[in-house]
Amino acid sequence: MIDSHEYPDNAYLIGAANNLLIGPEHPPLMKLSKAFDYIKIIDNKLHIGAATPGGKVVSFCKKNNLANFEFVAHLPGTIGGMLQMNAGLKEYEIFNHLHKVHFKDGYRLLGEIEYAYRSTNIDKVAFEGIFELEYGFDHSKIEMFKKMRANQPHDPSAGSFFKNPEGDHAGRLIEAVGLKGHRVGDMAYSQKHANFMVNLGKGSFDEAIALMQLAKERVHETFGITLENEVAIIDRRFINATDNSRF
Ligand SMILES: Cc1cc2nc3c(=O)[nH]c(=O)nc-3n(C[C@H](O)[C@H](O)[C@H](O)COP(=O)(O)OP(=O)(O)OC[C@H]3O[C@@H](n4cnc5c(N)ncnc54)[C@H](O)[C@@H]3O)c2cc1C
Repeated sequence: MIDSHEYPDNAYLIGAANNLLIGPEHPPLMKLSKAFDYIKIIDNKLHIGAATPGGKVVSFCKKNNLANFEFVAHLPGTIGGMLQMNAGLKEYEIFNHLHKVHFKDGYRLLGEIEYAYRSTNIDKVAFEGIFELEYGFDHSKIEMFKKMRANQPHDPSAGSFFKNPEGDHAGRLIEAVGLKGHRVGDMAYSQKHANFMVNLGKGSFDEAIALMQLAKERVHETFGITLENEVAIIDRRFINATDNSRF
């Protein structure tokens, strides 16, 4: 693993790799160092290093009675990964209380970044997220978010595989085309929640790709809807999803 300070031109930045499908032909991978794992309160703002795990943020907020990060307790990953995809649970999203992001070439305010449901135009290494500071950690939200996750499988997965198309649910569409529980090798669309592609043992990258393509084809044929990946595919054969120029 290469430390980010070296910035190799063709390398792909990962956070904690919770939302990635990494193929055998992946580019070199790089990761922010521990120097980017911190939380500080400065001038009434919360500064969180991009390599900070979500769990650490929630513990900090609980200890310091800070609001708005309760949902992060149930999102695996780093603040950098969460910022890049505007991660969230339903309407609770990481951009909701964002003030600005520190990139390698300077700061961009919330209004200078395009973002929507599970997507942003972040195309550079984020070093730090700077958030509005509000007091009042809400313990009841932790329980509420836990309940929201009750329908998700415990088998290894990368979370939701596809983004929900506007006005619909990817899980519903996958189920409607008969793929809930469908298995290719050791990879399957979960019996518990069809939009979770789970690894039931020794699932391979190629099996995951075959399943992904099957769902895209069937959903398009049946409903005319093009499913968009939420999971990023890191393999040179899938060049559009592995645009290294962004870093
Ligand atoms: C079981 C499970 C459940 C999940 N449930 C949810 C959910 O409910 N809601 C949700 O939103 N997500 C969910 N996810 C997905 C995951 O939690 C989020 O995508 C999270 O943001 C991933 O963070 P990461 O650090 O692992 O990023 P990675 O998976 O390593 O990377 C994700 C993307 O972020 C980019 N990136 C990483 N760090 C930086 C940085 N510093 N600067 C710029 N770009 C960066 C990467 O290049 C990549 O494109 C789930 C995942 C799992 C495994």
